[in-house]
Amino acid sequence: MIRFLNHIWNSISDAGTRSSQNARERNGIILLNRAWLILTLIQVPCFFQHILNGFWLSAIMTAGYIAGLALIHVFVRLGHVNAGKIWAIIVINLNTTLMAVFFGEQTHLIDFLMLTALLPLYFFEIKNRMLIFWGILASILPTIIYHSITPYIKSFALPLDAQLTIYHTTNWVKQFCLVTLLYLIYNKNAAYEKEVSEKEGDLTGQKKLYERILDQIPIDIVTYNSDLSFTYVNSSAVKNANTRQWMIGKKNNDFFKACEMDPSSGAERERIIYEALGRKTPVEREETLFTKNNTVKHVMNGVSPVYDKNGEELLSLICYSVDITHIKEAEKKLKEYAIELERKNDDMHHFVNATSHDLKSPLRNIASHLQLLERKNLNRLDADSLELIEHTVKSVKHLNRLIGDIYQYSVADRNDKPLEKTDMNETLEHTLREMSETIAERNAEVRCNILPALKVAETHMGMLFANLIGNAIKYNTSSQPRITVNCEITNEEYIFSVADNGIGIAPEYRKQIFEIFQRLHTSAEYTGTGVGLAICSKIAENYGGKIWVESEPGQGSVFYFTFSKNIADPERNNDHHISGNQKFAIAS
Ligand code: ADP
Repeated sequence: MIRFLNHIWNSISDAGTRSSQNARERNGIILLNRAWLILTLIQVPCFFQHILNGFWLSAIMTAGYIAGLALIHVFVRLGHVNAGKIWAIIVINLNTTLMAVFFGEQTHLIDFLMLTALLPLYFFEIKNRMLIFWGILASILPTIIYHSITPYIKSFALPLDAQLTIYHTTNWVKQFCLVTLLYLIYNKNAAYEKEVSEKEGDLTGQKKLYERILDQIPIDIVTYNSDLSFTYVNSSAVKNANTRQWMIGKKNNDFFKACEMDPSSGAERERIIYEALGRKTPVEREETLFTKNNTVKHVMNGVSPVYDKNGEELLSLICYSVDITHIKEAEKKLKEYAIELERKNDDMHHFVNATSHDLKSPLRNIASHLQLLERKNLNRLDADSLELIEHTVKSVKHLNRLIGDIYQYSVADRNDKPLEKTDMNETLEHTLREMSETIAERNAEVRCNILPALKVAETHMGMLFANLIGNAIKYNTSSQPRITVNCEITNEEYIFSVADNGIGIAPEYRKQIFEIFQRLHTSAEYTGTGVGLAICSKIAENYGGKIWVESEPGQGSVFYFTFSKNIADPERNNDHHISGNQKFAIAS
């Protein structure tokens, strides 16, 4: 039996709680359900007492009251909690007013309306001001109307002794209801206050945490409200904690006055603030300041206005100031280094240019004089002397080639003219024409697919093709060297390949060969200077690309090099200029 009653109690208490948003609302619904049950349980004995006393009208009205109350529970069970509450106020008021009319003034039943006037305070949260207002009005209005019409409704009333009996019967109910209601309202508000203070505590804790985080940042941060009064100042902006505290609520000018500072020192900041407010977007500006010690300080000032979600009402203004003196100084130094480097590079280039020309002609003379000497004294010179001359001529020629290659290497990343669209097919054709003697000598076959037009310096492409095709023929022992030139185009780059059927390269040398003066063979085996692939690597790098080889000994080699489309694509609006100092030029 007790378990059954307990089950009913729980079922009634929990009715409609599923629709609740939070624990407080859930508790409110549970309390409403319990209050409803208590009220109904009070009315039921009243109903029977009226029957026992023979007050039929009173019994009918109490029954109506109980039925009205039952409807409240139906609303709540269906999840319409607010509708249930409004209906509760209406039904209680309606029933009470009718009872007061038909039972007579001396029953003082109309006093119940003063109790129902308290109900909205229990039913609704303080923030639902309109519901509370109408709820109270729904109790006060019938009371006023009742009192103004009492002289005209006296005829409906019960005899005076019956009225007094009802008064005595219901008086304790009135007192009980009052105490219960006051208790419920008090309890509800206590829970609400507790929740609010907990939330306030959480918010204050979070605010303090964020402030501590902002204090750790080595950037001056200040926030203003919509009146441009300080709302927060971090410790980097103002060191003194008391001053920071004092500043809250003050304006920029108050601060300058208190610190006896010239208000114009904040003029730049003010200007940015009004610019950001005018544009409704964040604004950043660099400012150069002169400190008291007459040293220069560079700062980056920024202002970021924060608006409500409609983007209309200004909520806050965040201002920050970052000391960028060290960055500016580093930038200045870097610029100086770049200029210096460019100058040294130019000097070096002129030096290499001049020495290569100056060295080449005497070397050519030495070789031709030696050869002339050999021809003139062919009969007089013994075999050793002839061999010596031959070796010397070979060395001089090698030296001559080396000087030429070093010069090529020094100019591989220079191009003083702006890059122009160049047809790679024509460049390759031109290179092959220049190499026609070597190609014919070795009976080589060079095939090529259709190549794109690129925005490059023709000399650079010529150097790449000449070195790679030259090597493909040179490092090849087959009766017919076969070379294929191809180009694949991806979204980001051009991938060129030069494939041969030559001697191939062992895996451990695939990186090394791109370094200057790195050779895998002696001059007796294959002539060369070890500069060609280093020139190719330098050119590819200057066009934002790279070079590599895929090869196996005896299986031929495929040399790949790429050009970035950002630089070499003629369709892209890239005003790129290849020069020996381009990397530094970008950095500065
Ligand atoms: P060089 O040809 O003047 O020696 P390179 O820088 O052009 O200098 O080449 C470096 C080395 O890479 C060469 O000595 C050679 O051993 C190797 N090499 C270059 N191209 C090929 C190739 N196509 N096949 C095999 N080996 C190659």
